Amino acid sequence: MLPEIDRILIDRERISQRVHEMGEQLAKDLSEAVRTDGHDPLAHPDRVVMVPILTGAMVFAADLIRAMPMKLSLRLVTVSSYPGQSTESKGAAMRSALPADLADRHVVLIDDILDTGSTLKLVSDLVAEQSPASIRCCVLLDKPDRRQHDIRCDYNGFSIPDEFVVGYGLDYDGFYRNLPDIVALRPDAFRAG
Ligand code: 5GP
Ligand code: MG
Repeated sequence: MLPEIDRILIDRERISQRVHEMGEQLAKDLSEAVRTDGHDPLAHPDRVVMVPILTGAMVFAADLIRAMPMKLSLRLVTVSSYPGQSTESKGAAMRSALPADLADRHVVLIDDILDTGSTLKLVSDLVAEQSPASIRCCVLLDKPDRRQHDIRCDYNGFSIPDEFVVGYGLDYDGFYRNLPDIVALRPDAFRAG
């Protein structure tokens, strides 16, 4: 274990079990949505679009989509809110263009953690402008006490207290995304700024 790690909050086995449950639930709900939305699946095969919000959702999304036994496609979007050595959101900003072909598709936004809600609000408002068939939000972690925006999150892996966590895709200053568990860092791991 890295010396900067204070303790494990959610270990890899619990993450894996929960991600599989979420993938199965999503696949069930989306298959039902596709079956009942009136489109001919042969004429319109690209009905379900998963949109991981990079960089943090990369690891979660990689596991989640492999737990979804159904036809789907991927579009990527990059948003930043915690630049550099910061543990306080500076407000979400798009760092890449949103894919422009989401009209009439079932869109699932995937993020690592729902905190103030500014990231998911920004992206879901932009997706909504394209008139998709539906929008769902799926996050691994939720900090409900921190919410500042009215965001409905359909799939939430774990609710956690207001504490800064890293691992399983989540970073501090670009590091620790590769840790397999969700962990808290020791206070001396944070630099001033
Ligand atoms: P929001 O826009 O909801 O305030 O924050 C969402 C984004 O902030 C997440 O995608 C994530 O990048 C970042 N974030 C929020 N809380 C944490 C945390 O505890 N640890 C890390 N590493 N990032 C966080
Ligand atoms: Mg993020």
